[in-house]
Amino acid sequence: MFEGLSDRLSGILSGLTRRGALTEADVTAALREVRRALLEADVALEVVRSFTEKVREQAVGAVVLKSVTPGQMVVKIVNDQLVAMLGGEAGIIDLNAPAPVGILMVGLQGSGKTTTTAKIARRLTQRDKRRVLLASLDTRRPAAMEQLAVLGKQVGVETLPIVAGQSAVQIARRAMEAARLGGFDVVMLDTAGRVTLDEALMQEAADVKAATNPHEVLLVADALTGQDAVNTARAFDGRLGVTGIVLTRMDGDARGGAALSMRAVTGKPIKLVGTGEKVDALEEFHPARVANRILGMGDIVSLVEKAAETIDQEQALRVAEKMRKGKFDLDDLSMQLAQMEKMGGIGGLMGMLPGMGQIKKQVEGANLDEKMFKRQRAIISSMTPEERRNPDLLKASRKKRVAKGAGVDVSEINKLLKMHRTMADMMKAMGSGKRGIGQALGSM
Ligand code: GDP
Ligand code: MG
Repeated sequence: MFEGLSDRLSGILSGLTRRGALTEADVTAALREVRRALLEADVALEVVRSFTEKVREQAVGAVVLKSVTPGQMVVKIVNDQLVAMLGGEAGIIDLNAPAPVGILMVGLQGSGKTTTTAKIARRLTQRDKRRVLLASLDTRRPAAMEQLAVLGKQVGVETLPIVAGQSAVQIARRAMEAARLGGFDVVMLDTAGRVTLDEALMQEAADVKAATNPHEVLLVADALTGQDAVNTARAFDGRLGVTGIVLTRMDGDARGGAALSMRAVTGKPIKLVGTGEKVDALEEFHPARVANRILGMGDIVSLVEKAAETIDQEQALRVAEKMRKGKFDLDDLSMQLAQMEKMGGIGGLMGMLPGMGQIKKQVEGANLDEKMFKRQRAIISSMTPEERRNPDLLKASRKKRVAKGAGVDVSEINKLLKMHRTMADMMKAMGSGKRGIGQALGSM
């Protein structure tokens, strides 16, 4: 239903914004810089290649905003693509399963598994009010079991009593059973790690997984992992079916390339980020922040964003100019409604139009939601171009047709026309500034 309308809108917009489209050569030149930045941020080479190729396809032919260079435009496209890719689905720990919910922690030795286990347990206990049981499956290093017990005590979370001589699988089974009997909500299984990828380690983790059927398998990875990130992620995910990634040591000077590498290889979301040695140093993953860190071109990105904002403003001013000349038709109203929708309500738009600041307050009380904007635009898009230019054509039978087309009552058409008339009148008289949009909209 909106197609015709949005085509026209984007036509108008591109008339305003077009400085030309990005050529193959523009994109190639800009991507050279981007490639260097990604490699410097320690993104794995194969990921740099596939990522820049994907961006190239998207970027060639894209419209360049006014007052922005092609290179800057490409950087913005790269940034947006990076954010989209890093973000994807929401990165929270999923506890949506029958209790006790198992969380299996895997990763290389020293990646921060044990510390992260305690951090997550603390968060689930304190913030989400879950009863958590911790169990260390690191049978090779007694000190590791002790470490988890100490951290558990520190965060006020119970750990499974240590019994000498049990295998990882036996301990894991015992943990699940103890949790069932003890009424725990969550069991976190902290596995042993090796300094490098190792078949015995993988097999052990796979056996534990088969025995306990965990709801989450979290790969803990050091953000400082460089080119190896790809191999690590691929090996763990291929063997264990990772459900999410926790990136540790983001407090250091890691540029975060591992985040992109691991996300690209596994397609699994980065769920959390470790930002220090302390048990409260755990944060949500912010794709935009990390994208900025990886790309290191935040200045250019905000410059392009500002340019885009300016264009919105120019568009708003153009409509205002038309209003002042008394040539305010239903197409203009529709465009204005689209703009309001985009800006998250009428307040934003009014702030932009000259002389409207005061009316803004008045209007904010009125119940003007996005749904209403959408409905009104649907009505307008059900009219013929002649009707939009000359609303007086809309007599009873035409109104009925439009109402049917938009799936609304005829009374809605009347309201819309009344609003338009009030606004158009008001625009003519705007010099005197006696009436405002607020009044027009308030009268609906
Ligand atoms: P594991 O072998 O995978 O269990 O790793 P550990 O949890 O024992 O952590 C290894 C070291 O990394 C410890 O000294 C931790 O304090 C440290 N560590 C873990 N996470 C972070 C983090 O997010 N930031 C920093 N700076 N250090 C961390
Ligand atoms: Mg450990």
